[in-house]
Amino acid sequence: MTTSITSSLLDHFGVAAAARGGELPVVSPIDGAEIARVRTHSAGQVAEAIARAQAAFVAWRDVPAPQRGELVRLLGEELRAEKEALGKLVSIETGKILSEGLGEVQEMIDICDFAVGLSRQLYGLTIASERPGHRMMETWHPLGVVGVISAFNFPAAVWAWNSALAIVCGNAVVWKPSEKTPLTALACQAIFEKAAKRFGSAPQHLSQVIVGGREVGETLVDDERVALVSATGSTRMGRELGPRVARRFGRSLLELGGNNAVIVAPTADLDLAVRGIVFAAAGTCGQRCTSTRRLIVHESVKEALVNRLKKAYAGLPVGNPLETGTLVGPLVDAASFEGMQSALRAARDEGGQVTGGERLLQDQHPTAYYVRPAIVEMPGQTDTVRRETFAPILYVMGYREFEDALRLQNDVPQGLSSSIFSNDMRETEVFLSARGSDCGIANVNIGTSGAEIGGAFGGEKETGGGRESGSDSWRNYMRRATNTINYSRELPLAQGVRFDV
Ligand code: NAD
Repeated sequence: MTTSITSSLLDHFGVAAAARGGELPVVSPIDGAEIARVRTHSAGQVAEAIARAQAAFVAWRDVPAPQRGELVRLLGEELRAEKEALGKLVSIETGKILSEGLGEVQEMIDICDFAVGLSRQLYGLTIASERPGHRMMETWHPLGVVGVISAFNFPAAVWAWNSALAIVCGNAVVWKPSEKTPLTALACQAIFEKAAKRFGSAPQHLSQVIVGGREVGETLVDDERVALVSATGSTRMGRELGPRVARRFGRSLLELGGNNAVIVAPTADLDLAVRGIVFAAAGTCGQRCTSTRRLIVHESVKEALVNRLKKAYAGLPVGNPLETGTLVGPLVDAASFEGMQSALRAARDEGGQVTGGERLLQDQHPTAYYVRPAIVEMPGQTDTVRRETFAPILYVMGYREFEDALRLQNDVPQGLSSSIFSNDMRETEVFLSARGSDCGIANVNIGTSGAEIGGAFGGEKETGGGRESGSDSWRNYMRRATNTINYSRELPLAQGVRFDV
């Protein structure tokens, strides 16, 4: 079923030839069918791509930023035109429901719009000089070649978050998508090339895709010509990649795993909480970096909330993500299913009571992995709870004192997203304060997932510390120069130093 839809989508994007006869099989999580075979890049081809990107950068940095914005505006237009087709391809390659596939493309459009505005706002400061007849200022310049490494679960948006900003800032981009989702990348590249053609004067190879697994990523990581490596994926990947980039004094922007919690306080609006938690914990089949994995609920409302969640989970429509009405699609592959089952076994051994988690639709799809999202009532925050399992498992823990809830929230190695459902203003303000949540994202009365592009996105601790998307994240794609200009006829030295020659 997915094979024929994919073929027509690949034809539509004009990338069918690149998706045939290669070494890398691409499988749709929807039915486990092989939908393409993509050619991978050798180390030599990656080096050539980087050299081409370097040449593109040298030309592009001279184009005024507002004109660079025009290219990104055209990219946004092309994405608007292709929203349906690209959203469908995202769903086929990742297994996320169509509405989320379309939402991912909308996010790309939104970041393009944001970047276009930004192209006239790459501001530096003017700073008071201590010397008479002097002026100080900051200027921001592009970095050069930006390498983007992305995870399977956001196969298009992560590229757009990085590229829209990187290109407006004057850089060239080399993108290595997840080996599980190269087709979406090929389609994005085709869309970018259409925008570049309409723009007319963009240098060739301003944005390129290189296909392959970890080794291809490593070649990008080790190349000194890549000024910034923006890498999204597991903490394991970031732990390997970060030091490698640092060894050559390159910059890295890391967007790694999360272990996100929701606190539900006694004053919470439980209707809101149920909706927020079910979307964030079970939606996308638990395969968002911001998915809710831990629920920390006050003992006075625990039973009521957990009963409502169990009821909602039991009725969740799990199935083909392309069909209207489905809310939970499949896990990405067999390894992901094994990871989920092994976490559930470990949680049981640690005293957890598991509801759900079983495989579904196995007869219909022996090589696709549909599951009932799981709720696991835990006696405490055990080792298993403290790990990120990239699957729909919601660990539930009770609390009595608000300080204990905060302690549990922060007592994990990851620091991406967090939220509190409460109508007690003192609690919510403490949650958002310096002694509250230690995450990069802290929300009140909404879930942990589904961030808007206007804010800076990313997290602390093992999540890697990177920030992408909105706010002033653009600075990550530029280098800062401090300039001092002397418009006097004297040469006074800073700090009153005398050096008369
Ligand atoms: P993954 O770490 O297996 O792979 C991510 C990417 O890194 C892939 O392109 C892969 O080929 C590449 N890679 C792996 N090892 C590498 C190495 N040593 N050097 C260079 N490249 C390497 O992750 P995944 O399974 O695709 O995605 C799921 C993970 O990503 C989860 O942990 C999730 O939380 C995380 N994630 C984080 C964010 C965020 O913004 N914080 C967003 C999406 C996903």
